[in-house]
Amino acid sequence: MVTDPVCKMEVDEKNSPASKYGEKTYHFCCPSCKSMFDKNPAKYT
Ligand SMILES: [Zn+2]
Repeated sequence: MVTDPVCKMEVDEKNSPASKYGEKTYHFCCPSCKSMFDKNPAKYT
């Protein structure tokens, strides 16, 4: 399990939307958290 950086929920990294930012891959509970992150990744890292 990893933490969704947008809402801080625990998510299963095998079955969740993901974005790469810098060296890391971030995982999200839902597509709307992913799109929030994609708009402003610096805010969540
Ligand atoms: Zn989320």
